[in-house]
Amino acid sequence: MGKGTLVIGASHAGVQCASALRDAGYAERIILVGEDDALPYHRPPLSKTFICAKVSEEDIELKSHAFYTDEQVELRRGLRADFICREARTVTLSNGETLEYDNLVLATGSRPRLWRKGEMPGNVHVLRTLADARQIVRTLKATDGTVAIVGGGYVGLELAATVRTQFGRDVVIIEASGRLLSRSASPLLSDWVARQHVLAGSRLLLNTPMVGFETSDGVVDAVVLDGQPDVKASVVILGLGIVPNEELALQAGIRCADGIMVDEFCRTDDPCVYAIGDCTRFSVAQVDRMVRLECVQNAHDQARTVAATIAGNPTPYRPVPWFWSDQMGSKLQTVGFLDNAVSSITHGDIENGKGSFFHFDSEKNLCAAETVNNPAIHMQIRRAMAAGKKLEQQRFEHEGKLDLKV
Ligand SMILES: Cc1cc2nc3c(=O)[nH]c(=O)nc-3n(C[C@H](O)[C@H](O)[C@H](O)COP(=O)(O)OP(=O)(O)OC[C@H]3O[C@@H](n4cnc5c(N)ncnc54)[C@H](O)[C@@H]3O)c2cc1C
Repeated sequence: MGKGTLVIGASHAGVQCASALRDAGYAERIILVGEDDALPYHRPPLSKTFICAKVSEEDIELKSHAFYTDEQVELRRGLRADFICREARTVTLSNGETLEYDNLVLATGSRPRLWRKGEMPGNVHVLRTLADARQIVRTLKATDGTVAIVGGGYVGLELAATVRTQFGRDVVIIEASGRLLSRSASPLLSDWVARQHVLAGSRLLLNTPMVGFETSDGVVDAVVLDGQPDVKASVVILGLGIVPNEELALQAGIRCADGIMVDEFCRTDDPCVYAIGDCTRFSVAQVDRMVRLECVQNAHDQARTVAATIAGNPTPYRPVPWFWSDQMGSKLQTVGFLDNAVSSITHGDIENGKGSFFHFDSEKNLCAAETVNNPAIHMQIRRAMAAGKKLEQQRFEHEGKLDLKV
């Protein structure tokens, strides 16, 4: 037996990597090190169903205890990997222990971007971990008054929806740019989402940069805005985006540029070190830039890519990114890249809660689709894109005759 595979980060990417390695017949030792104390869990429910108690901690486990025993995956929880020695192929943990590896997989994920130098008065929260979610629930239960959500990205908006509809609180959404979801959705979907939040009774402030907090006795009581009156709030949740956890790789001299740089096999510039999930940056054929994909699909697919490579069956990763979000009782799903979209076609009755936005590039081929409560269409497009099929704009011009068969 060799020294096996050491995976740092025990969440969507790391756990899937361990599982996919065993599925691929990998029989060597697998050690999975995670800083979080909890048994690895799904993050998406944290902002959707967990904070309003529709699911329990047990319901959101990624794998049961039995998986780790049965598959001989040595899960080391509550420990941080502090130092990589690439020459010796070792990693030193926060408890002083040193582990050896043949293959090292960095699945260190990302963390919420904080306000300025991490200034966090009382009742100001971010949401990334189960511990964050538990703390938000405690604060919501212990307070009344307005909840301010700073940042109109998916996590912030899901929280806004849950807090407004399930906790019945007054909600103010504060967004610095001119529209919600500006990094991840088309203007068509942004506008629809904005209308749903306003219809549910939330106050929406666009083009409104936050400049700080007003506090009393160390606890927040208002968000200070640029050129506008302060927003009084007893709770503030920051959804300012994420930062990749690349410091461990940087310390080891592995190439990083706002993400650990990997190739199509998820290899870093060290042939024994791979990286997967939210912490990575890589090039894709569809768009003219290096991307970081912050979604479960990417974590899982890169994990499977690395497992196949380590197990001796390398297959390049060609992502068709997809994402979902549950807000205001609607399921939003996105597939593809919006970068090259120059025209769009709308199907269905979006205003009444079901429809799709299809986006086309300059060659009149579909490059992305956004659906609202339309999972069947989302799945058909995903399958077609994964099969590399071109979907020409003319197919979408007559709604009644939409044929997406691959
Ligand atoms: C509230 C919320 C809702 C979301 N909803 C959706 C959704 O609806 N759909 C979707 O596709 N995506 C969603 N996402 C994003 C999705 O959860 C992430 O893309 C996914 O978690 C990425 O998985 P990962 O394993 O790469 O990274 P992470 O989940 O960030 O896990 C990385 C792990 O590594 C650990 N770690 C980091 N450094 C070290 C170290 N040095 N030593 C040991 N351990 C370390 C961290 O503690 C962490 O547990 C959501 C995220 C959040 C927070």
